[in-house]
Amino acid sequence: LEEEFQTLKDLPCETLDGARIRLFVNTGLSADINRSLDRGAEGIGLYRTEVPFMVRDRFPTEADQELIYRQQLEGFYPAPVTMRTLDIGGDKALPYFPIKEENPFLGWRGIRVTLDHLEIFMAQIRAMIKASAGLHNLKIMLPMISNVAEVEDALALIRRAYAELKEESYDVVMPQVGVMIEVPAAVYQAKELARLVDFMSVGSNDLTQYLLAVDRNNSRVADLYHSFHPAVLRALQNIVDSVKDEGVKLSVCGEMAGDPMGAILIMAMGYDTLSMSSTSLPKVKAVLRNITMEQARFMLHQVLPLAHADAVKQTMVQLMREAD
Ligand code: PEP
Ligand code: MG
Repeated sequence: LEEEFQTLKDLPCETLDGARIRLFVNTGLSADINRSLDRGAEGIGLYRTEVPFMVRDRFPTEADQELIYRQQLEGFYPAPVTMRTLDIGGDKALPYFPIKEENPFLGWRGIRVTLDHLEIFMAQIRAMIKASAGLHNLKIMLPMISNVAEVEDALALIRRAYAELKEESYDVVMPQVGVMIEVPAAVYQAKELARLVDFMSVGSNDLTQYLLAVDRNNSRVADLYHSFHPAVLRALQNIVDSVKDEGVKLSVCGEMAGDPMGAILIMAMGYDTLSMSSTSLPKVKAVLRNITMEQARFMLHQVLPLAHADAVKQTMVQLMREAD
């Protein structure tokens, strides 16, 4: 199997009829870098910056962060590295910054925390941009966006940080900025959001949780948590349709992108990039290289009208068998 992965590594992710799709990885630890390159990732689609924050006992300083981010940017250079600003709250806690709430998933989370703590946000943005000096392969992504104002505010801050660093003579460029689409409100405002940013990435883990009102970590309702729920599939398609004239790059970076059947459907919908764990990448590439875009679209067309998540799954299994 490892041998097969090695051959696969340098082959493009291209369907049998020549459609090209980019496969990126999700990372968090610096140890992820080599393994991801090894698996043939074309870039980092989601670097979860909360991971290095979680393994410490206090907030890393701007200088600490610059070093950590530089490793990711250098490790993947010249490929793009998408760094997500701190996404704490919800299920992700920092031991030195406790957040106590009745309903943390609907509470102070992601961009909400950092826009309330500009010192945290600005240190992080400055560290990211400084770390990208001379490399220019940084993209910045904003988590948990639920309205347009959050993006406008964050963009103004990022532009300010960039202007400061230019002024301080760093060799930097204004990074591309994107948003995560993981709150249902953002699905319905995808067009307005797309006009503000360079790229969008669907966080299907949270989007599934919020669309279905099912806690992604609660085993009691785990049976109800389904990425192939018709509402999730239609939301994903709706995003592509809403932004198709806006010139943004579109990706999915939740677990669904690392599931071969999910990946086929996402590709068929019209997403450019899939970002997943390095473990899932070779398998997804092998599957996508083995079908045509036409087959993928046919599958999507068959499952989109179905009413039950189970039916979607069963139909996909059946269609995959027939395609083989
Ligand atoms: C998601 O919500 O799908 C996602 C990729 O982000 P996280 O899992 O870190 O919340
Ligand atoms: Mg998320």
